[in-house]
Amino acid sequence: MLRRWCQKHIERRPRIGLKNAAMTEANEGAGKMPDLLIIGGGYAGLWAAMAAARRAQDGVSGGDLSIRLLTRDAYLTHRPRLYESNPQDMRTPLGPVLEPIGVELALGEVNAIDPTARRVRATGPEGQDNEYQYDGLILAAGSVLRRPAMETVNARTWCIDDHASAVALDQHLTARMAIPEADGDANDDTVVIIGAGFTGIELATEMRGRLAEHGGTARAERARVILLDAAPTISEDLGPVPRPHILEALRAARVEVRLNTMVQRIENDQLTLNDGGVITSSTVIVTTGARANSLAASLGLDTDAMGRLFVDENLSVEGLAGIHAAGDIAHALTEPGTDGGHVALMSCQHAMPMGKAAGYNAASVLMNLASRPYKQARYVTCVDLGPWGAVFSTGWERQVELIKAEAKARKQFVMTEVIYPPMHDRAAILEAGALT
Ligand SMILES: Cc1cc2nc3c(=O)[nH]c(=O)nc-3n(C[C@H](O)[C@H](O)[C@H](O)COP(=O)(O)OP(=O)(O)OC[C@H]3O[C@@H](n4cnc5c(N)ncnc54)[C@H](O)[C@@H]3O)c2cc1C
Repeated sequence: MLRRWCQKHIERRPRIGLKNAAMTEANEGAGKMPDLLIIGGGYAGLWAAMAAARRAQDGVSGGDLSIRLLTRDAYLTHRPRLYESNPQDMRTPLGPVLEPIGVELALGEVNAIDPTARRVRATGPEGQDNEYQYDGLILAAGSVLRRPAMETVNARTWCIDDHASAVALDQHLTARMAIPEADGDANDDTVVIIGAGFTGIELATEMRGRLAEHGGTARAERARVILLDAAPTISEDLGPVPRPHILEALRAARVEVRLNTMVQRIENDQLTLNDGGVITSSTVIVTTGARANSLAASLGLDTDAMGRLFVDENLSVEGLAGIHAAGDIAHALTEPGTDGGHVALMSCQHAMPMGKAAGYNAASVLMNLASRPYKQARYVTCVDLGPWGAVFSTGWERQVELIKAEAKARKQFVMTEVIYPPMHDRAAILEAGALT
């Protein structure tokens, strides 16, 4: 028992704090800085850390603030880029963003949140139990793939939901294409993608190019790429307006689209469909949408259909003091105060501003400063469509503004510039954390 107790570190104070003006009365009395803990090193968590650090710097009437970001690994994974080739490169180290602004990085898998005791339990990288006490918590643990119900027997499916999965798929494609065509089964060059939403479409239109990188153009041209969906139309999540362009791009990429189609069972390499059809493939990739991280449900509050926590206009979790939520785990309205606007999507486009608002507000609460509502009126969509180009639309009706090469240039700008945080440069990082 004693040994177990010693193995467990109860961590209260990070090594690095942000020094500010006088402490608040309450914390002065207790002789400690308030502790802000952020769970998650994705877009919401990282931008929350930058914004909280910025707020602590600017909030001269507030107090000192200790900020710690607790997450699984030391990287921001660029999930929106995991359909591309070279997925191993699609991440940014967190250290060069957090160190210059005095935010401590802690690694661990969070297992439990105790909102009453304001304590979080996590398993550290060496398997040790760690506990973190907090005064304010930002929950930014993101989302995971929502898998369809289907029976699998002696079969493996692939996904591009996280860095490790996307790298594993890429290694599988490399291995498949390394087997000479004469030695293999022709079906080994058949790729089946289940789920014809945003991610499935981007992956399907990119797939022949990726196969060509691994096995040469001629072989990639002979491969079959099949995109299945249970729905009667493709891209239900993108609405009808961009659909004609998406269909044109899928035709150009020679993607076989099969709608009203569900995979009921996969045994070895045999997929049995709801219409009785059978497809043989060892590369079955699931892209069927997302649901919120299960830490949301663990709090015992009501959640929406995607498992997200309801938050108020300041992104404070409704029904729990001291917890803000941002990104894919939060059900937030984009324009509170009017008709509520729209519910923020599970997108990095929403996760970054939500993270900033949550960071600003969580820091403000701890420093006795005013909060500011999260507000995000502008919304755009840009779908990569492989060699055909891309489609760029604005607004919630998704009016198409750019297609093909022009839209592709916009997509590349977002994917290589907008979603990357500044590194090493304290002033630039704090500037990126400013609430505009
Ligand atoms: C293939 C794909 C393509 C996409 N394309 C686009 C796109 O084109 N445009 C767009 O806007 N969005 C896109 N998205 C959605 C976008 O990636 C997400 O909306 C965004 O990543 C959400 O950010 P987040 O910070 O809320 O969550 P995440 O990015 O999921 O980050 C969550 C963080 O929490 C950590 N974490 C989770 N659980 C725990 C735990 N128990 N303990 C410790 N740490 C934990 C994770 O390691 C991670 O660091 C795409 C997503 C995928 C998967």
